[in-house]
Parts: sequence; structure tokens; C-alpha cells
Amino acid sequence: QAFFQSDVGSLLEKVGAGKESLSFMKRRIRRMAAQWASAARRLDDKLRNHWRDQKRILVHVGFLTEESGDVFSPKVLKGGPLGEMVQWADILTVLHTLGHNLKISVSVKQLHGFLGVPPGRGSCPLTGPLPFDLIYTDYHGLQQMKQHMGLSLKRCHIRVIDTFGTEPAYNHEEYATLHGYRTNWGYWNLHGQQYMTMFPHTPDNSFMGFVADELNETERLQIQKNKVNNMAVVYGKEASMWKGKEKILHILNQYMEIHGTVYYETQRPPEVPAFIKNHGLLPQRELQQLLRKAKLFIGFGFPYEGPAPLEAIANGCIFLQPRFNPAHSSLNHDFFRGKPTSRKVHKFKHPYAEQYIGRPHVITIDFNNTEEFDATIRQIMEIDVEPFLPYEYTCEGMLERVHAYIQNQDFCSPEAPFPPLNSSRTWPAVQPGPFTLLPNSSVLTWAFNTSSVKSWPPLSALQLLASQEGHSCVKTCQSAGLICEPALFRFINIKEAFSALNLQCEGLESEKNHLFPAFAAKHAECLLQQDPLLFSCAGSSDTFRRLCPCRDYRVGQVALCKNCL
Ligand code: UDP
Repeated sequence: QAFFQSDVGSLLEKVGAGKESLSFMKRRIRRMAAQWASAARRLDDKLRNHWRDQKRILVHVGFLTEESGDVFSPKVLKGGPLGEMVQWADILTVLHTLGHNLKISVSVKQLHGFLGVPPGRGSCPLTGPLPFDLIYTDYHGLQQMKQHMGLSLKRCHIRVIDTFGTEPAYNHEEYATLHGYRTNWGYWNLHGQQYMTMFPHTPDNSFMGFVADELNETERLQIQKNKVNNMAVVYGKEASMWKGKEKILHILNQYMEIHGTVYYETQRPPEVPAFIKNHGLLPQRELQQLLRKAKLFIGFGFPYEGPAPLEAIANGCIFLQPRFNPAHSSLNHDFFRGKPTSRKVHKFKHPYAEQYIGRPHVITIDFNNTEEFDATIRQIMEIDVEPFLPYEYTCEGMLERVHAYIQNQDFCSPEAPFPPLNSSRTWPAVQPGPFTLLPNSSVLTWAFNTSSVKSWPPLSALQLLASQEGHSCVKTCQSAGLICEPALFRFINIKEAFSALNLQCEGLESEKNHLFPAFAAKHAECLLQQDPLLFSCAGSSDTFRRLCPCRDYRVGQVALCKNCL
């Protein structure tokens, strides 16, 4: 059984030393230890001493290994990306706090040691049982495990921390190759939900997330008292992010004192105008203090989606961001090129902030329209906003979510079969399970004999919808106030689902296509999915009405359905 633990001493030891990235993570773990501890107490009460299995967990942080080139560590103090380090520090703390048996590796040598690979036998496939129930790693780590240990037999234990997400069409090796979805990163033939993202924007993957500081009542009151209405902080710690923004900054400067945290060595970077109060890169704690005073946190367009806007909103700032037109995606923008997703940064710079938080905390406008920009700044100075942090980004929310994943997600069961890597394969028929369908206007409620079907989220959460032509299941569920749930696709991949939706099939085919199950209206064809790895919430086509398994979600915790705990 796993017991919550609040002392981070042993965790800090396991993280090791010798790199700036590790020091950054340890500072964060230490700084937030008290918040994690009180969150753990609250969750423990909430779960009322539920039995929780203690798992043997290996965390292999691939991007920090020398073998992957570790470009991050040398830039920690120089304005390089910190979001990933924030997330890994939080993942380690969650797993530790939940009381699991944790091993941490940041080098291939440590990885060998933990997996019991004898020295000098680095590229031999592992023999014997895997000494872990779960392995959290990233794309780099996955590559290393494959290269050194022939991981193909053990894939169901793996969870890949993947900032931007991987859609099923890109993940499926054979399909990606045949249909132009091959990228540098995808094609690992995992289940979509084994990829864990930073934001809950891709329901095909699991949402891992990170946390931001939570305020107590005293801090809240103090923040509201001390807010400086004409103080702004700019999002962007690298000088290049400020390039070409003079016009906007000049307008803003008419109303507000503008602060920046841009890294510099000796001289002020030329991209940062003289009227900016630049603090240089700040330690996290000091950045929080700055955000507590500021009224406005303003982003220019890059980085797209990092932790900083959530931290700003949590500290009572309004986050102002540009709208992109056209939307940025892997098809038209360098940053997303090669990433295994077709997701568009939909007109918004920080889609999570826009979609799940919104006004008054988040304002998205066209920065090219100077009049609108000017008016918005004046408006921002007038309105009062309270600090706000969605539950899923609190320590308790992250503990609750990861607890639910660890206890319920199971990709090793025969219901989630794995094909061997690099081979053609035939799939067993997907078993629908015994149930009856209850048509109920456009959103159907299904009644099941749930006792005989093993599923998480439970089948009772399923609501079946047919998309319009040209719409994805992500969008279809969203417009019904629900979320697409890929784990439930296997229950709607049957011909009865079409009749339940009043779609009359002239023909019934089964194919490998990431848009199936779907209905092609032109020939009244009903199309079933042949390969469960291709079940995908993302994806749309004007030819098809897709069948979508939607479910409800908890307010502030979209990853979990109402009955998921
Ligand atoms: N950060 C910091 N000092 C600064 C600016 C940012 O410690 O001067 C931290 C910030 O608190 C956040 C992290 O850097 O937790 C990552 O922020 P960002 O959203 O910029 O994402 P990144 O692009 O670094 O991945």
C-alpha cells in the first residue's frame, strides 16, 4: 500500500547534483514542499484512506542525459526554457508525495543500473521480468531504451512526458508512413493516452500538467492591496522574443511602467528598449513577487504555452496575448514543424488560458490593431481581478489526477493489446461488451450491464455523438459541453452505434483510418475502425460524420470524469 509522504529529503537526494537543471528542480521542490504537504493531507482526507497500490516507478529524464546532448542544462541561468524543468520537478514531487517506490535516472548509466543491464552489455535486450510497474520518460529516453535495451516487450509500462502531445495518426508507425504523418518524434505505436502533456488540449493524450503556487487568504488580501495598476511584466526571458515589438511597447509605455526579466550577460540586449525596467532572469521566488505587484502580464507570441501565464494569473495579473490569424500549426510554422500533432494554436497564443480561463483573467486581441490595443490597456487599468488558479494546476489537483491515472490506467491488460514494433499484424476483433442502447435526442445515453465490462473511465460516463461533416471529435464533444474520451472508442466501434444515432447503413466496412468509426453520407456507408491504436479524437474530413465517445468532466479537472475517482 502507498502512504502519502511529505518529507522531500529523500527525493532531493535521488535527484542528484552536478547540473544547473537539477539544481533548479531541487530549488523548486524545496520551495514548494510545504504546499505539497498540505495538499497531500487534503487529498488523503478526500480519498478517506482508499487503498492505493504502491508502485515501483522509474523516472528516466531523457532530455537531461549527456547522451541526448542535454542542451537545456547550460541554458538554465541564461534565459533558456524552464517549463520542462518545472514540469519534471513537479512530476517527481507528485510520485514521491503519493508514496510510490521511486527511482530517478538522468543518465544512460543510471538507467542501465536500475534496469539490471550488466556493464558492457548495453545493447542487449532485457531478459527477465521488468523490475518496475511504471516508467516515466520522454521521447529522448524512449529512444535510449530502445537502442540500449530493446524495449519492445515492455512498452505497456511506459508513460511519455510529451509537452505538445502526439496524435494517434502520427504515433502509428505503419499508418504514419503510408499517409504522410511521419515526423521526427512520432511512430512509437503506443496507446495515445500513454503520452502525457503539459496542457489538457489534446484529449487523445493524458494530461499530466504541472503546478503553480497557491495563495492563502492572507496572501490574497495582501496582493489585492498591493497591486500597482500601472505596472506590466513582459512574458519572454530571451531577448529574441522581444524583436519587432517596439510599436506595441511604446503604446503600452504611455500607460504603464514595463518590467522585463530578460537574460543578459553584461550589456542590455538591444531588443529591449531603454524605458523597460529589466531585472535580468529572476529566481522563481522573486518572479512571483514581481507578478504579485503587477497588473498586467503581456505575451508577444512566443513562447506559445508555458507555465508563466498561469503563474501570473494565479498572482492576480491579467494576461494579455495576441490572436494569431491564420492559426499557427505544424503545417505553417517552424516551431511546430516536425511535431507529431496537427493541432492549431487556434488564433490564441495560449489556448489553455483562452479556453479554460478566459476573461477577465485572459484577454486575447489583435496586436496589429493599435486602437484596440490602446483601448484594452486602458480597460485593464480600470478592472479589478482576483488571483485565479484552476484546480487542475494546484498541488492537490495534480496529486488527485496522477493518483487516478496510476490506480486506473492499464495498458498491459489484454483489452489493450500491443503489436510488436516493425511488423505487420492482425488485430483481434474489438469486443463491444454487453449493453443496450437508449436513443435520447441528439446526445445518446447508453445503458450498460456495467458489471461485466472493465473500463476506466467507467462506461457510465459515455455519451455518444455523431459529428457534423468536417468536424473532429475534439470539437464535437466540446460543443456539447463534454470532452472526447479515447478510452471509450472501443465501445462505440460497432454497427449498433450507427443505428442508435439514426444513421442507416447501406454498407459496413472496417478499415485502418484514424477518422473511423465514421459515417460517409454520400453512399450511406458505415465505417468501423480496424486498429484500436488509431482511435483518435483529433482529425476531421468533409466526407465523414465521425462517431465520438464523449464524457463529462469535473469542473477544474478535465482529465477526470465525475465518477472517475
Ligand atoms: N521563470 C523564472 N525566472 C524568470 C522568468 C521565468 O524563474 O525570470 C520561470 C517561471 O516561473 C516559469 C518558468 O520559468 O515557471 C517557465 O516559464 P515559461 O512560461 O517562460 O516557459 P519556458 O519557455 O521557459 O518553457
